[in-house]
Amino acid sequence: MDPSQPNAQQQLVDRFGRHVNYLRISVTDRCNFRCVYCMSEDMQFAPRSHILTLEEIVAIGRAFCSLGVTKIRITGGEPLVRHNVIWLFRQLGAIDTLTDLTLTTNGAMLARWAGDLKAAGVTRVNISLDSLHADRFRALTRTGDLATVLNGLDAAQAAGFRRIKLNSVLLKDRNHDEAADLVHFAMERGIDISFIEEMPLGVIDEHDRAAAHYSSDELHSDLTGQFELIPTTESTGGPSRYYRIPGSDTRVGFISPHSHNFCSTCNRVRLTAEGRLLLCLGQEHSVDLRALVRARPGDDAALREAIIASMDIKPKGHDFQLQGTPVVLRHMNVTGG
Ligand code: SAM
Ligand code: SF4
Repeated sequence: MDPSQPNAQQQLVDRFGRHVNYLRISVTDRCNFRCVYCMSEDMQFAPRSHILTLEEIVAIGRAFCSLGVTKIRITGGEPLVRHNVIWLFRQLGAIDTLTDLTLTTNGAMLARWAGDLKAAGVTRVNISLDSLHADRFRALTRTGDLATVLNGLDAAQAAGFRRIKLNSVLLKDRNHDEAADLVHFAMERGIDISFIEEMPLGVIDEHDRAAAHYSSDELHSDLTGQFELIPTTESTGGPSRYYRIPGSDTRVGFISPHSHNFCSTCNRVRLTAEGRLLLCLGQEHSVDLRALVRARPGDDAALREAIIASMDIKPKGHDFQLQGTPVVLRHMNVTGG
């Protein structure tokens, strides 16, 4: 294939035959929360000069779209703390081959930005919400205020976002007993919810990850006591396995890196805030796209060539293990969840 010729039909295909059509971009490693499973309390952030400029992110996003990527998720860190990030959404929202432009946010600044995000072309919003109790919410996020996040959800619904999805990381004996309440809350709001098993990304000091592990299987069996969960083959392009509840629009998803490895169907790659293209969430295989865009600004052909070549180092899967030092020392805010 000739990488100098942009062609939306061109597919990114790795050595295992997996087609990559989904890019997650971390636009900042910074955040206004310090969730206990994501960061340590005294987190060190990257120097600003290491972070990709918004223009560099647009160039990389466009290159991916010219190679057949149709879905981009903006994540972080907290994307909405990045100065002028709405400009980035507008630029990406204008790419006509992009069918999905989604945002993952902690919701704390959504009340201010929901309308602008909708106008910029954002198609879906995921909001992280681990508890409906203000004190627990504060303990899990260290700095978060539940009421602000719920106002953000209201604002996103008022702005016209449909199929909003809540993401809940459940920790044993911290919030695992809230799963049914969170499902009821999602049903009342007419939105979806996914439960995520904690992943061993980066060293954290607040709890023992193995002791806090609560498997999707245990959770599924808790929920089947209260809801009829009908398995579906639906997908939002990510690793969630979805269930429907009869009489409700709400989908309940399970993201289970430990108990149900999803690597064989992986269709995505990640760009860190510092411009590393990560080929797998749970491995270190990467390509330094920041070095390339800074050495050869405006050279879109070279960028496309590097992205195509990266497919050769996409690993078969992650090696997450519950015990011991994490294999991956990057925290989730660096990786982009
Ligand atoms: N700040 C935004 C938010 O919280 O939604 C976006 C970035 S955050 C890293 C993306 C998602 O990753 C959130 O839903 C969060 O709960 C999840 N997450 C963070 N650390 C995690 C970990 N160690 N294991 C599993 N999920 C994690
Ligand atoms: Fe911030 Fe999101 Fe990480 Fe929580 S999960 S600390 S909100 S980046």
